Amino acid sequence: MGAFETGARGAESGVIIRADRQSTNRLQGHPPLALIRTGERTINEPVIIPREQHIITRAQISENALKVLNRLKEAGYASLLVGGCVRDLMLGREPKDFDVVTDARPEQIRKLFHSARIIGRRFRLVHVRFGRDIIEVATFRAIPRDISEQPLTTEEETEGEDGEQDSSPGALDHNVFGSQEEDAVRRDFTVNALYYDIHDFSVIDYAGGVADLNAGILRVIGDPDTRYREDPVRMLRAVRFAAKLGFNLEEKTAAPIRDLAPLLASVPPARMFEEVLKLFHGGYALETYELLRHFGLFQYLFPLTEKSLEHEEEGFPVTLVPRALANTDARVNDNKPVTPAFLFAAMLWEPVREQMGEHILRGMNSHDAMFRAAEHVLREQLRHVTIPKRFSVPMREIWSLQGRLERRAGQQAFRLFENKRFRAAYDFLLLRVEIGEADQALADWWTRFQTVGENDRRAMVTDIAPSGTGGKRRRRRRRSSSGQAPSHG
Ligand code: ATP
Ligand code: MG
Repeated sequence: MGAFETGARGAESGVIIRADRQSTNRLQGHPPLALIRTGERTINEPVIIPREQHIITRAQISENALKVLNRLKEAGYASLLVGGCVRDLMLGREPKDFDVVTDARPEQIRKLFHSARIIGRRFRLVHVRFGRDIIEVATFRAIPRDISEQPLTTEEETEGEDGEQDSSPGALDHNVFGSQEEDAVRRDFTVNALYYDIHDFSVIDYAGGVADLNAGILRVIGDPDTRYREDPVRMLRAVRFAAKLGFNLEEKTAAPIRDLAPLLASVPPARMFEEVLKLFHGGYALETYELLRHFGLFQYLFPLTEKSLEHEEEGFPVTLVPRALANTDARVNDNKPVTPAFLFAAMLWEPVREQMGEHILRGMNSHDAMFRAAEHVLREQLRHVTIPKRFSVPMREIWSLQGRLERRAGQQAFRLFENKRFRAAYDFLLLRVEIGEADQALADWWTRFQTVGENDRRAMVTDIAPSGTGGKRRRRRRRSSSGQAPSHG
């Protein structure tokens, strides 16, 4: 199927597209829906939306991005914003960052800025630095000849920074750089393929992205099956953008996902880690999680967790994961810090808890049982998603401190309170209390301990029963949601 056959679109959005094209197409002499063929893919004539017909103004663009855009323009190059920032601006949202594209080659871009450096091996990009802010500038990219060839992935591009490895960049660049049209069609979704041109402040739409933005539709550019096979991560991106934007997946975009989900197993775990953070630290983790499960994608990120979720315990579904994600969303939306250590601790807790229980049943002490369970779950998880040591170590601490939070007699509470992971462990305890897995009284004790002075703390410790357990453990039970979101970080 042609990449942009309008027949693939819903009747409603088709109407919008045609109307837009007729009123705004400024390329004379071409029929409004002309298709240009380049190799395997079909490219639409662009639709140009002039500045007075869209809502983007320069006031919404970061000063640094404007500096880069203007410098490129003054040097005579094409100079445009592209991707998520244009999409978000068109929706009246604040972009996370600003990506610039140009027809200038990396060396040419570098010469324009003092603080520029070339990064990436296969596809070289330029980072222009302004203090802590970095504006990424890419040269228009060609459609890969060979479909099995690398798709665009920012992580792989930025991996292995190499500023000076210029053996013969010209020869390499020849294959990877392309026209603006080619750059547009190798992007993933129509709404991600919009450009904002600093020359005339117009928005350029090659793929029907504006109509899809208006209709709230997420649509793959080209044939979804092919595009997911080229890069299975696009299935995760589809779900992420649908959740973040509140968009519906267009029918053909959604259709192959379930069947192709197993392709995620071939994605390098390091790239999966980056994607997991984008999926769950973007402020829409709960919706994203639900969509991931709906499409059968979640099991390729967290297979052991998926298994735990499938069986119900004492008749009640396991609820820690969605609770944790709701809390993470609340924190992200309050601009509070979040850490992957806590995210993974929550995601993997249920399998760890189950395995720990099995070890204990076989007679192991709880310390060793936790160690063994954590060891095994982490090893399995790493086959799918990398968890760098700097996160897996604190993750395991959060788990092992759960037992210690119950043992508070003598100096134990004071020592635990000094632990640098205390706060995260306490936050994790609050989550477990929310789902009825740990005792409210224990959480209340620790909440109070943190607020009172030294003398009261001593009194609190003395008051604990000699067993130091803070009361009997509750069985898991269903609880109504408490308004208070526990914090973590
Ligand atoms: P966010 O707001 O999350 O940053 P984004 O759309 O900017 O969303 P990025 O991952 O920053 O997403 O990628 C920037 C742009 O690069 C995308 O908008 C899209 O055009 C293109 N892109 C990124 N990843 C892919 C991919 N795997 N396949 C095709 N195009 C991609
Ligand atoms: Mg982006």
